[in-house]
Amino acid sequence: MELLKERIIRDGNVKKGGVLKVDSFLNHQMDVELFNRMGEEFKRRFSDRPINKILTIEASGIGIACIAAQHFNVPVVFAKKAQSINLDGEMLSTKIQSFTHQRVYDVIVSKKFLGPEDHVLIIDDFLANGCAVDGLIDLIRGAGATVEGVGIAIEKGFQDGGKRIREKGIRVESLAVIASMDDETGEITFCN
Ligand code: 5GP
Repeated sequence: MELLKERIIRDGNVKKGGVLKVDSFLNHQMDVELFNRMGEEFKRRFSDRPINKILTIEASGIGIACIAAQHFNVPVVFAKKAQSINLDGEMLSTKIQSFTHQRVYDVIVSKKFLGPEDHVLIIDDFLANGCAVDGLIDLIRGAGATVEGVGIAIEKGFQDGGKRIREKGIRVESLAVIASMDDETGEITFCN
C-alpha cells in the first residue's frame, strides 16, 4: 500500500535491534484518515471471506482494528494482557512473548465474545516474530472459532513470523512489508 509506505519513509524512525518507531502516525498519535484507508484495503483484500468478527491485542492493534471494523460492519474483540489470571472457565487464555518489551504476557478473551460460530480476522499493527499472531490464533482455535486470515499494517519481512504463519496455511495480508532497515543511515527498503 503506497500511502503507508510513503508515510513510513517520511515519519518512521529506525531504532537499534530491528525496531521501527512509528509513534507519530500509528502507535501513539494516530492518523485516523490513514487508518481508514488501511481499513478499506483490508476489506478489499479479505472481501471473499465470511468474516463476522475482528480480533486484535491491546494496546496498539485496537485503533487500527476499530477503524477497519467499520468497513466490515463487525465487532472488534481485543485480547487483554492480564496481570494474573483467574481461570474460572469463563476465559480463554494463552501466553505471548512480547517483542518490544522482552517479556511473556498472559492474554485473555472472554468466552462470551469468541465462540464456534465466529469467523475471525486477526488485525495487528506489526508482524515480527509472529508471537502475538500465534497467541491470537491459539485463542481463536481454543474457542472453536475459524481463523479467516491475518491483516497486518507493517510486516518486518526480515523476521520469520510471516513466513512461519503462512506455512501453516493461514492467509496473511500485510499492507507494507519491510525488507531491510538500517539504524545508522535510517534507510528502509520494502519487499512489496
Ligand atoms: P511479534 O509478536 O510478531 O514478534 O511482534 C508483534 C508485536 O510486537 C506487535 O503487536 C507490535 O506491537 C510489536 N512490535 C514488533 N516489532 C515492532 C517494531 O519494530 N515497532 C513497533 N512499534 N512495534 C513492534
